[in-house]
Amino acid sequence: MTTTADHFAQTYGEARKKFLAASAATGAVLSRYDHPQAGPDGKEIGTDVARIGPADARNILGIGAGTHGVEGYCGSGVQTALLMSGFADTLPADTALVFIHGINPWGFAHGRRVNEDNVDLNRNFLDHTKTHPVNPGYDDIYEALNPADLSEEALAVGRAKMKAYAEAHGPAALQHALSGGQYAYPEGVQFGGTKPVWSNTTLREIIRNEMGKARRVTYIDIHSGLGPRGHGEVISTAPDTSDTFKRMQGWWGDIVHSTQSAGSVSSNVPGSITEAFEQELRGLEVTPCGLEFGTVAMNLVAAALVADNWLHRHGGHANPAAPAIKRQIRDAFYVDADDWKEDVTRQTRDMALKVLGSF
Ligand SMILES: [Zn+2]
Repeated sequence: MTTTADHFAQTYGEARKKFLAASAATGAVLSRYDHPQAGPDGKEIGTDVARIGPADARNILGIGAGTHGVEGYCGSGVQTALLMSGFADTLPADTALVFIHGINPWGFAHGRRVNEDNVDLNRNFLDHTKTHPVNPGYDDIYEALNPADLSEEALAVGRAKMKAYAEAHGPAALQHALSGGQYAYPEGVQFGGTKPVWSNTTLREIIRNEMGKARRVTYIDIHSGLGPRGHGEVISTAPDTSDTFKRMQGWWGDIVHSTQSAGSVSSNVPGSITEAFEQELRGLEVTPCGLEFGTVAMNLVAAALVADNWLHRHGGHANPAAPAIKRQIRDAFYVDADDWKEDVTRQTRDMALKVLGSF
């Protein structure tokens, strides 16, 4: 008998194969968007879309995986487990499911949170013709986030800098400095890019193709790495006074937080993926959000991101530390344990059912 955990994978290639097989078994219509680069094994990579339900459905529930590359292990497993559990077999009338797999396929395949341009895709959906936001806190802790070496001495200097910053400005300011994105250092962590990247333009194309003719669209973008282990939090970029936010709160209750107010695990970030849905689907009732599942302690997540960035920037893949660092980043965003896989799948399923029930 297969269990939920069996639908999760150990590589991008395995995840893609399982997702495509589950989609085919469900009778989904598949579309494929090939990425111009290859995976580390030289094989093709891309974003895959499985659509179940009428082509002209007025109501759409979308679920996406892999915006942050390596975080795709979580969302991919959830998507495949839902498909294989028969979740899509009884949809309400006039409703379609759209599962988007490997939104940043390069990062997923190469085990990075960023894409092929070192860009954090979830900071890239802003108007690049305008002046980019500044993050002065990032400048202050630059060395802590982008050390020239990973020696204990260099890391200790970084930790001291972050501690001093938090003492001077408070923990919320430190979190924004750490995760609020930056547009000034293309080689650094948390870079949002200075033009729309492949995954940005491709996702917009998918949104137009799959959702442009609907009336109501809800989209859940699955992430991992923030919050308590296995606990899901909905991250809305809409203010908590908006109808969009209130709809989410009506379905999902107090796990919904707005990045515009205090209390979210996420900082108020510019260029979030939710912008793409709002911009491409103007005039429709659009409810886009991130769903963030906790993995390991935040300091371990941060250390993994710093080490991975160092490896790509200075270390090189022939570096003896490379296998351990690649393992470290995967473990930071993917808890390879049955109970975690069951937890994240169950919570997503419950959330999805609430949305379908409202259609
Ligand atoms: Zn993420």
